[in-house]
Order: sequence, then structure tokens, then C-alpha cells
Amino acid sequence: MKSPLEAPEKQISEETSAKTEKVAAPSVIDTSKMSEGKRAALELTEASRDPLDDRGSFASNLFIGRYDFDRIFPWPEQSAEDHAAGEDFLRKLESYLRDHVDPDEIDRTGEIPPANFAGLAEIGAFGIKVPQKYGGLGLSQYNYGRAAVLLGSWDGNVAALVSAHQSIGVAQPLLLFGTEEQKQKYLPRVSRGEISAFALTESHAGSDPATMSLRADPTPDGSEFILNGEKLWCTNGVKAGVLVVMARTAPKMVNGKERKQITAFIVDVDTPGLKVTYRCRFMGLRALYNAVVTFQDVHVPRENMISKEGAGLKVALTTLNAGRLTLPAACVGVSKRLLEISRQWAGERIQWGVPIGKHAAIAGKIAEMAGNIFAMEAVTFLTSSLLDRKAADLRIETAMCKLWATEMTWKIADDAMQVRGGRGYETAQSLAGRGEPAIGVERFLRDCRVNTIFEGSSEIMRLFIAREALDPHLKVGGAIFNTTLPKSERFKAVLGSGKFYAGWYPKQWLPGGAGDIDGLHDTLHKHVDYAAGASKRLARGLFHAMTRFGPKLDREQLLLSRFVGVATELFAISASCSYAQWLLGQGKPADETLALADYFCRSARLRIDHHFAGTAKNVDRRGYQLTQDLLAGKYDILRKGIV
Ligand SMILES: Cc1cc2nc3c(=O)[nH]c(=O)nc-3n(C[C@H](O)[C@H](O)[C@H](O)COP(=O)(O)OP(=O)(O)OC[C@H]3O[C@@H](n4cnc5c(N)ncnc54)[C@H](O)[C@@H]3O)c2cc1C
Repeated sequence: MKSPLEAPEKQISEETSAKTEKVAAPSVIDTSKMSEGKRAALELTEASRDPLDDRGSFASNLFIGRYDFDRIFPWPEQSAEDHAAGEDFLRKLESYLRDHVDPDEIDRTGEIPPANFAGLAEIGAFGIKVPQKYGGLGLSQYNYGRAAVLLGSWDGNVAALVSAHQSIGVAQPLLLFGTEEQKQKYLPRVSRGEISAFALTESHAGSDPATMSLRADPTPDGSEFILNGEKLWCTNGVKAGVLVVMARTAPKMVNGKERKQITAFIVDVDTPGLKVTYRCRFMGLRALYNAVVTFQDVHVPRENMISKEGAGLKVALTTLNAGRLTLPAACVGVSKRLLEISRQWAGERIQWGVPIGKHAAIAGKIAEMAGNIFAMEAVTFLTSSLLDRKAADLRIETAMCKLWATEMTWKIADDAMQVRGGRGYETAQSLAGRGEPAIGVERFLRDCRVNTIFEGSSEIMRLFIAREALDPHLKVGGAIFNTTLPKSERFKAVLGSGKFYAGWYPKQWLPGGAGDIDGLHDTLHKHVDYAAGASKRLARGLFHAMTRFGPKLDREQLLLSRFVGVATELFAISASCSYAQWLLGQGKPADETLALADYFCRSARLRIDHHFAGTAKNVDRRGYQLTQDLLAGKYDILRKGIV
């Protein structure tokens, strides 16, 4: 019986007798033929990447054809004590939002009233996960997720304020990496409501932090760093008292080459030389206090460094690994609210003699919303619960939650607008002005659009997941293609990987589902069996792609995104089945629970078919060439006739 906490590479090793010893990350990827910019970006990210730890995870194993349903089934339910611990705060938050937060007014004015900052601070909303000994509520990730659902369902601006403050702002990195002194100094402040923010992005450094230019130079005695430069789009920056700032510090020599270093600092906003110079405004989240922040000779004491010099990107990436779970939870809230609006309208709006929900085109949209919300809740709270249990290395799960939930929510918002027709496009204020209920679907649509862009854009999430998916294979065979390594090492890799794949590959063709699973309803069991088989097909597909493209596979982003799409849907199917079985055990109506889970799984399987079909037949190459020609100025016809 395998242990549920084994790492993929350890499992591979045991199953095949191949030695998959940990290879230093940079040596498994050949960066020698890359452009200077790409090489710098990749080497910096690789150097900041923690190897997948020895515990592995359910989702990471999908890519190697290993379907460990026992890692997520039975459903890791929230304990009664943990549930009770969150109740008081969650009830306060719910009534506070309902009674004191006016989302349409906040959207219209572009301001969150000061009273709301004070009110939220009073109920502890700014220190939800911060331990009580540092002045926070000390609640679990699961309860934090429940709070994010409430916030998302009501007001995106307040959700973003609270989330940026503690999911990526000072609290999260300090909880992960802070010294005891730092925690004692800053956590009580931010828990009480002193707003915090996370400053990574710059004008030239968006998805690629290697191009960051804000510098931190040590003073001659080394007791301080002096920061110079500018940060862009710092959410909460306008209101913040304290920031986490990522800065370039002196480069390090690695194997005779200079490697860029990024270091994280806690910076008090009242430090001389720090200025909020601009408030950015957006399509949605109109009351986001998002800032351009400039630093001119800003002195920061060395003790405000988080972790150690050069570890800044690791701090940022690790912070985001868990921090980006807040967005999918907020998305559950947004999506449930939109389903409520849609189902009510589809039942009451009569066109062509019947309620519009009786027209199959509208009914199809609402069914998709319902199935996807069920799965969104399943993946988000499964991952939250596993995170609370520290059950595994969950970076792939959290990235999948973020990627999948934010994209689904955008689709749900788009569909909800279609269901509401012209009223979906009309503002709440305008609707109210002519005597109709003030239902602001367009506000939700505007507010949720950015979710696929920030905290790791969808494209970057797919690359991130693909990198982790390829990791076991890179460890086994990456060295073969790495022209920077000595021939002897590459030859050793050929032998090692031959031995490994001779054992591993035939297994990916073995038929059979997930095996016997006690206590799983038949309807769910057949979807889990499907997922087990599909994960082998996924592993084979990925392997074939690697043999076909070798070290150039990283350029095949669209192909990789299909594999990531398959795995993400398989994760969602599996989580939904586990969740559905748990709900059945809780006495929830069986017909409703099974109908939702079954609908979702069937619809996800269609998407998986589509992804697989695209791996065999696609127009990727032609599309790529077309775009390069467009970028080069060809296709004049497409310019003609416009203003
Ligand atoms: C409302 C808002 C709030 C924000 N809050 C914060 C904050 O609090 N703190 C902070 O530090 N930052 C914040 N950001 C910045 C945000 O994280 C960035 O917008 C994001 O990282 C993307 O960077 P970019 O916009 O410069 O896009 P770019 O990096 O220029 O990318 C443009 C497009 O190209 C794609 N792309 C880029 N590189 C690749 C690649 N290698 N392969 C495939 N596709 C690629 C991207 O996915 C994107 O679609 C915020 C942004 C917004 C709009």
C-alpha cells in the first residue's frame, strides 16, 4: 500500500528502480540557446522555485498517470470545531456587508467610505488568518475562504481590499517567512486595520520579474538598504501604511555568470522619500486603491528584509502559492450571486410565450453555471482543507483553482449578462432610476474581468502548471537535452531515463479505472474511473510530446495548455465526486447532489475530449506564423476601412 504522502519522483523511483535523485533545477533545463531576456527570466524563476517537496500532490500525479483518489477521498471535511471557530466572525461579516456596505454606491463613487474601513477592522476582517497571539482572529484557510465567498458575492472592491491586504500584503509573507520580531512588530498593526499592500509589478516588469529595476543598495555599514525606483499597480497602495516591496539587490555570480537577485522588504509608507504619486483607475473595481509608488533614497533597515538577500522572488512566489486561493473563493461568491440573478430572471421573464428559462439556449447557460459553481466550490474548499492539514505540496492545486475558477467566473458573468439581456448591460442605478430592481450584472462582469490577469495571469498559470507537470520527466531525462552539461552526465541520463521509461511507459497503456472505492456512489464512481483512465492518456500524451519536441517543448505553449486543461478538468471532476459523496453523507438531497455532479462531470469530459482532439489536430503552427506576419505589418487588408 503506497503512502498518500509520497512524492511523484519517489513513487517513480520505487516503481521503476530508476534513480531520480534531486538534480539542481538550473541543470535540467538548457538555457544556452535562449534569448538573453528569456534566459534571464527562466534562470531567475528556476532559482527561486522550490523543488516539489517530498509529499507530492493529487494534481501533480495526474500528469504522470498516477490517480491517487485516496488523497482526496473521503472528502477532507472541515472539523466541527474549525467550523464553529469561524461562525461568529462569518455571521458578523455577512450582516456587516448587508447592512453597511453599498456595492453600487462604492462602484459609482469609486470610494469605499472610511466608516467601512473602521467597521471591517472592528470585526477583525483585516487579520482573519493571523494567529490570535499577534492580534488576529487565527482562523483557518477554510474559514478565510468562506469569508472570501461572502465578500465576493457582495462587493468586489471590498473583497479586493481585504484580500490584497492579507493574502499577498504583509501578513502572508510574514507568516511564511517573517522573523519573530517582524511578526510581533507588524502583524498586530495590520490585523487592527493598518492597510498593507504587495509591490512587485513595475512598468517594465509585469509577468517577468527578471526585468525589475527598483534597486535596493546597502549602506556602507550594511545596516540599511536604500531603495530607488517605482512600483506600478500596487493594490491598496493609496491607503496603505506598510508595503511588501520586491527590489533588485546586487547580483550573484553563479557558475561564472551573473545572476539577478531580488530581495523582499517591509517598508513603512511614512518613510521619507516614499511617495504615492498616482491613483490608477480601471474598467471595474472602481474603488480599488491602486497606486503608482515612487521610492527616492528610501532608507529601510536591514531587519526589515524578509527571509534573506536574494530570496525575494521565492518569498513572492511562495506567498502567491497559498495567497492565490482567495481569488477562487471570491469567484465562488460572485458566481453564486450571478446564478441567483439568472435563475430568478429566467423564471420570471416571459418571452415568446414562456419564461426564458424554458428556451433551451438559456437553460443550457444556466445548467453550465450550476455545474461549474458546484465544481468551483469543490476544488477551492478541497484545496483549502488540504492546505489547513498541510497535507501536501499544493502549488499545482492552488494554481489550478485560480486558473479554472477565474476563467469560469468570467464565462458565468458573460452568460448572466446574456440571460438578463439589455438589463444585464444596464447599470443598477439606471435600472433603479426607471423603477426596476437595481441588479448590477454589468458591475460584476467589469469587476471580475481582472481576475484572469492579476496574481498570475491565466497564461502564466498554465506555464507554471506545465513546468511543474514536466518536473518528474525533467528530472529523469532533462539532462539528456542539456547541451551545457558534460557528455558523461548526459549519457548517464540516457541510461537512467531508458530504465525508467521502460518500466513507466507500458503502465500508461494498462486498462482499468480507479479500482474499488468503498462508499462511492455508482454515478460518481464511473466518472472517477474515467478520470483515472484519462490521467494515463494525459501522461502518455505528455510523454509523446516530449519525445517529439524535446527541449523545445516549452515553446509549444498551446499544446501544453491543452494538457494543463485536461489535468485541471480531471482535478475538478475528482474533487466534485469526492465533494458530492460527502454531501450525500451529510443528508443533502441525493437527486440534486448527483444531478449537479453528474452534469458537471459530463460537461467537463466534453471539454477534455476537445483538449485531447486539439493535441492531435490543430492550427497552432499556422496561427503562430499568421501572428508573426501580422506583427511584421503584413495583411494590410485588415487595416482598411477603419477610422
Ligand atoms: C487591477 C490590478 C491590480 C493589481 N494589483 C497588483 C498588486 O497589488 N501588486 C503587484 O505587484 N501587481 C499588481 N498588479 C499587476 C498584475 O499582477 C500584472 O498586471 C500581471 O502580473 C501581468 O503583468 P502585465 O499587466 O504587465 O502584463 P504582461 O506581463 O505585459 O503580459 C501581457 C500579456 O502577455 C501574457 N504573457 C506574458 N508573458 C508571457 C509568456 N511568457 N508566455 C505567454 N504569455 C505571456 C500575459 O499573460 C498577458 O496576457 C495589478 C494589476 C491590475 C490590473
